Parts: sequence; structure tokens; C-alpha cells
Amino acid sequence: MDKKTRIAIIGGGPAGLGAAMYLEKKGYENYVIFEKTDHVGGKCHSPSHLGKRYEMGAIMGVPSYYAVHDVELFAGVTHDGPRLHRTYRLPNGKPDHRFDKKLFNIPHLLKLKKQIKKFGEILETKYKGYDITGHIGVSEGRYEGFAVTPGREPVSGVNPNLKDLALPFKKFVEMNGVPLVQEIWVQPFTSFGYGYFDEIPAAYVLKYLDFQTMMNFVNVNLWTWKDGTQSIYEALNKKLKHQALLNQNITKIVRGDKVTITVNGKEEVFDKIIITAPLQVGQINNPVAQGLDTYLDVTAEERELFSKIDYERYDTMAYITAPENYPEASFYVVDNMTPETLGHGMVFYMRWGNEPEQPLVSYVLRKHKNEGESVVDYKARPELDYEQTKQTVLKDVATLGIPPIKENGKDKIIYEFQAYYFPHVFTEDYASGWYEKVEAMQGKNNTYYAGEIMSFGDMDETVEYSHDLVERFF
Ligand SMILES: Cc1cc2nc3c(=O)[nH]c(=O)nc-3n(C[C@H](O)[C@H](O)[C@H](O)COP(=O)(O)OP(=O)(O)OC[C@H]3O[C@@H](n4cnc5c(N)ncnc54)[C@H](O)[C@@H]3O)c2cc1C
Repeated sequence: MDKKTRIAIIGGGPAGLGAAMYLEKKGYENYVIFEKTDHVGGKCHSPSHLGKRYEMGAIMGVPSYYAVHDVELFAGVTHDGPRLHRTYRLPNGKPDHRFDKKLFNIPHLLKLKKQIKKFGEILETKYKGYDITGHIGVSEGRYEGFAVTPGREPVSGVNPNLKDLALPFKKFVEMNGVPLVQEIWVQPFTSFGYGYFDEIPAAYVLKYLDFQTMMNFVNVNLWTWKDGTQSIYEALNKKLKHQALLNQNITKIVRGDKVTITVNGKEEVFDKIIITAPLQVGQINNPVAQGLDTYLDVTAEERELFSKIDYERYDTMAYITAPENYPEASFYVVDNMTPETLGHGMVFYMRWGNEPEQPLVSYVLRKHKNEGESVVDYKARPELDYEQTKQTVLKDVATLGIPPIKENGKDKIIYEFQAYYFPHVFTEDYASGWYEKVEAMQGKNNTYYAGEIMSFGDMDETVEYSHDLVERFF
């Protein structure tokens, strides 16, 4: 492609800024990033309270976040944040010793360890190719992409077993005789808002929690950033030749020989467009997300495919609790990570131990669409109401002994965030080749798709997919 190609990038989150970085590295400098809000970073969102930044979106990374590491090097930042500690509590606030190594039921622990080991072996052998970036070929029993290694070598091969990855994770591990691994995988999955194992295809679970990443979680070998994950992308944006344009209201995109974008009332013409904003079409019940069809001239094929996308309703709430109630560390309530306890707080993150006015952040899910084993009627199942769920979480924190302090008679809640979170498709669509069809559309109508749905909804997978996209097409 001509290096002078004029490229529009929609979205200034990790995927959009990452795409710009990799384009620049390849010599493409004629790009413009359009960001809807007044800040970059997207769901890497780190507001300040009393001079310190806390996290409403992404929190952590692991040493195998190679694409995030590319960004760190380019932007001149490093993972210099507070160490993560974790403890466990029961919903009644008492300590939960089931995950305490010393007190853990020994026969169970041995069984679990055996299954984790077996799972690691199965993934490397039977499911060879499971962990490369993106989903190309998986539903056809092959893999094609870039290895998750510092060098990101191109890899490809045939492996019919990969078709199993379309199954919900629960079925997948049961089928492979390792059901207990769910006890470990659930913590950085469901409580991090990625849904329930009886409905989310194993492909997504393992794209993010590949074996090496999971072992980093187990060993608390994790990265955080002092000024929050948003600061990574603010620093990246500053280093780019063209910083993202903020407060950009795109009302129309028409594609033909060229791509004409109407933004803030003016038309601009481009050769190519990379969309990292949500691809979902139709009504989206979220205050920040907008259906792609509200501004793009979607084709019949795009409409058909993108109408299959669903997302997680994942809310975070930051509030102030009294210093005498500070927990000893951030903690998980594992009993609240089941479909039956939907709408209850699963994690409580305390970032700055012993600071005065310490924000505590709660994490809750409001949707579980799967009726038993069937996903056919998932659209009929309503999500929980936002306000009601917030009240449930406030009751939870009172029971847990960490209630908000009162200010002018009201709970001191300092920030609420309803993310358009982890877009994905379900088993049937995954198995019938959703990704192959979308990948086959890459480049048509001068359009490229990137962002969370194309691989997985975490910082690394999104930036890595942008890397792969630039390597493949530019
Ligand atoms: C509570 C929470 C916890 C998380 N924890 C972690 C974690 O610990 N580790 C981790 O790796 N990841 C975590 N994530 C996930 C991570 O933040 C996301 O996967 C990542 O930010 C996705 O990047 P993206 O660029 O694809 O999308 P986004 O971050 O959503 O960015 C998309 C950008 O596009 C903009 N946009 C949307 N529509 C338009 C439009 N029409 N025009 C112009 N701009 C538009 C948005 O404003 C936004 O800035 C977490 C997220 C949340 C919410």
C-alpha cells in the first residue's frame, strides 16, 4: 500500500492508538484518529482523587503483554504502579479460607493441581495454535496468525481439535476431563466482567487466559501503573506524530472509492478507515456506546454479522469508606461469581493502602443470558436494572463492613462507570464461522475492523490485534 494513504482511525482507546503507533512504525504517517470523548484511553480510565489516580477500567497487565510493552517502550513509560495484593472474603464479610494454601483441603488441592497440569499439556498439544492473536480459522480447525511471543512470528497450521474452542468453556473443560480448572480460571475471568463459563466460548477465555498468562495471575506476577492504565495511552498519544482529535462527533460515514466522514458538521475524505469503535448494530442499552449503523453506511453483510454481537454489562463504582473500615487488601468474593449471584459485588479494589480518603472500587455484572445449556433464546432474557444493582452492591458493601461514608446525608460515591464491555459472539455463531466471515471482509469498502471483538477485550489483545492488522494489510 502507498505510504501516503490517508487513513482514518475511529476511536482513541488502546486499539486505535495502537494502530496509529504500528502504522507510524511502518512509515504511514498520513492518519487521523477521531475520538468521541474529551480524553484518550477508552476503557483504560483512571480519574484522580486527591492527587492520586485510581482505576475505573483496566487495572493490570502481565509480563506476557508484549504489545503493551511495545507501547511502553514507544511512549517511554513503565509499569511502576502499586503491587497488587489479594485476599478472599465470604459474602458475609468473614475471611474465605478456601483459597488459603495452608488451610486448603489437601486432597482437593492435589486433584486441582493435577488437572491444571493436565490442562497445560492438553493446550500445548491437542489444542496447538489456541493462543495466537485473533480467531482466524479456528472454527475450520486451523490456526493462522502471529505467535504470542516477543517476536510475534507468523504461524499457521491445521488442527481440527481447535473447533472445540467454540464450546462454552464449562463444556470444553468437562469434555477434556479437567472441570476443576474453572475454580482458578474464574477469578480473573468472571469477576473481571467477562461473563460466565456456561455461555462464553472457550476461545475467548483462552485467548486472554492462555496458560502462561494464567500462571502469572496465580503467582501474582502482575503489572500496574502508578498514574493508572490511562496514563500509558496518554503518553502514547503524546508521542504520536498526530495526536488524537478529541470531542469528535461522527454523524455519517459513506464508503465508495474513498471514505467520506462527516465529523463535527464537516466532511473529510480518506482512502481507508480502521474502525475500533463498537461494531455492534442496533439498539445498545449503554450510556457510552453507539450502534455502528447510527453513522456508518453498513452493508447487508455487515448488518447480518454485527447484529450477532453481544456485550457484558459490567459496572464499576468508586466510593469512599472510613479509614477504620479499610480492608487489609483488595479482595475477591468468589461466592458472588456464579450466575445465581448475578448482580452482587465480586471484587473490591483498594489501590492505595492507608491513604486518607481511599477510593474503593466495586465490580459487578448485570447479565447472564444463557438459559441452562441453550443460547437460542438469550435475547429474551433481560439484564438487571442498573440502579437496582447499584443498591444491591451498596447492601453488599454494608454487609462486608466497608460501607460508604456519608456526605450531606448521602453515600459518598465519587464515580460510576457502565462499560460497554467485552463484545463477543456465542457458540453457534462462533462455530458457524463468524470470524472467518468478518476476516474475509477486511479491506472491502476500504474498511478494516479492529478493537475488542476481533480478538478479546483486554489491553494487550486489542493492541496486539492492531499490530497484526497493520502487519497483514499495510
Ligand atoms: C472495569 C474494567 C476493568 C478492566 N480491567 C482490565 C485489566 O485489568 N487488564 C486489561 O488488560 N484490560 C482490562 N480491561 C479491558 C480494557 O480496558 C479494554 O479491553 C481495552 O480498553 C479495549 O481497547 P479498545 O481500544 O478496543 O476499546 P476502548 O477502550 O473501549 O476504546 C474505544 C474508544 O473509541 C471511542 N469511540 C467509541 N465510539 C466512537 C465513535 N463513534 N467515534 C469516535 N470515537 C469513538 C471511545 O470513546 C473509546 O475511547 C478492563 C476494562 C474495564 C471496563
